[in-house]
Amino acid sequence: MSETSELLKKYGITMLIAPTTLDTNAWYVPGAKVIFVKGGLNDIERRDAIIHEIVGHVGNEHRISPIEAPTSRIHKEGEADRTMLHVLAIDYIKEFTSMPSFVDVANFLRINHLRNDLYDMACSEFDDLLKE
Ligand SMILES: [Zn+2]
Repeated sequence: MSETSELLKKYGITMLIAPTTLDTNAWYVPGAKVIFVKGGLNDIERRDAIIHEIVGHVGNEHRISPIEAPTSRIHKEGEADRTMLHVLAIDYIKEFTSMPSFVDVANFLRINHLRNDLYDMACSEFDDLLKE
């Protein structure tokens, strides 16, 4: 369940394309149920940004407050990234005919256009998934 259009439909959220100068890949406005996605992203980057915002932040019921402590914000970003990796890792594993015993995490990050600093978190996510 990580097709962009299905996700937006499931959560009842409208996507608008923002200028390429937006300082983040995606920005969700809860009251309006609108997500602004930075112009110029490719389909994969756009999907990742939407999964991070919608499944990661909205799905985990994060409330972003301007007076929030930086550590709290960092914690929420980590949780949203981990949720995004979970969704993408499940999709990745589905491509195998049976449960793989090993996953090339660097390849997973590359084909999903994910940041290299997510490597350790992705390893941990696959460890959990492959254990199940
Ligand atoms: Zn975030």
